[in-house]
Amino acid sequence: MPESTPIRINPLSDWLPSAPGPLVIAGPCSVESPEQLRETASALAASGKVQVLRAGVWKPRSRPGEFEGLGSQALPWLIDIRKETGLPIAVEVARPDHVEICLEYGIDILWMGARTTVNPFMVQEIANAIRGSGIPVMVKNPVSPDLKLWAGAIERIFLAGTSYIMAIHRGFKTHEKTIYRNIPLWDIPLALRMEFPGLPVICDPSHIAGHRRWLAEVTVMAMMLQMDGLMVEVHHDPANALTDPQQQITPAALIGLLDNLPGMDPAGDPRQKLSSLRHSIDRHDHRLLELLAGRMQKAWEIGRIKRLHSEAIRQPVRQKDIVDDRVDKGSQLGLDPEFVKKLLHLLHEESINVQSGKYPPAASSATSNKH
Ligand code: PEP
Ligand code: MN
Repeated sequence: MPESTPIRINPLSDWLPSAPGPLVIAGPCSVESPEQLRETASALAASGKVQVLRAGVWKPRSRPGEFEGLGSQALPWLIDIRKETGLPIAVEVARPDHVEICLEYGIDILWMGARTTVNPFMVQEIANAIRGSGIPVMVKNPVSPDLKLWAGAIERIFLAGTSYIMAIHRGFKTHEKTIYRNIPLWDIPLALRMEFPGLPVICDPSHIAGHRRWLAEVTVMAMMLQMDGLMVEVHHDPANALTDPQQQITPAALIGLLDNLPGMDPAGDPRQKLSSLRHSIDRHDHRLLELLAGRMQKAWEIGRIKRLHSEAIRQPVRQKDIVDDRVDKGSQLGLDPEFVKKLLHLLHEESINVQSGKYPPAASSATSNKH
């Protein structure tokens, strides 16, 4: 096997309904009943914002005794839902017999989960079961941050004869304590894209975030990095979901999320939006520097008065009052107190330099140039 198999991937537009924004795949973590499936799927279809319905049927659970999915009995319900909504159906497969039965039922798209991609023996067995069918396959990253395992799984699927392949970035397991369930390590999906040009790479913000409260920020980051789409877990009643109740969102919340994403406005190009945000950051930085130069000018004048009256340059009581006041003001503006403290420490040290006459402040020369 060469270092990297040259794979030819069919563009998304060849196999999925086109969308004005990124591709959106959404649906429940697990199918729980025909009613739950219908309620969730019909709202997603009615939104007109979702191109594929995802649904877990065989659930990989870390511990025995937890809800492991309804298995193949849910497949005919999914086929019925496809008839009702027109949405193509994607199902996770973890063993060759899962592939076989999905092919029998005519499921549209298969995906390999993180706990399968991590095991090349199982990936190869699934690839063998797919061989000859040409069915589209989505490959989630392995649980561990191992680009080679992810790339290898994609190569095995390609060598089994399908050119309809997509990668799903769902983050990586870590022992570190982090706010997210799985750390994103964005460099890895970006490196995968470099390795396989043309391979669509979408983001699963639900499994990265692990909680709906972080879903929007992970999704925005994925869009900023120009990922090709999203796979989001949606349940009509998330709090009572049998799996992943914290990270699933309602269909209405999904619509809200998509409507507020940069680049999801059909009239707006995400690159243009990014460029306009960057210009805005440039303007803010220039304004900040002007304000800082003005502040140093005042420090210089204070230093002159202190020197004339032999007053101490460092005045800890005044400095403490400043820090307390600015931390308070910063908190009202949503700034982290630790950040404000660090910033003020830097500013104070620089002010002391200027007041001690170590160098003339840029603002004073800029001001005098104007006169
Ligand atoms: C899922 O998508 O429901 C799932 C089990 O995901 P992962 O393989 O990313 O854990
Ligand atoms: Mn899940």
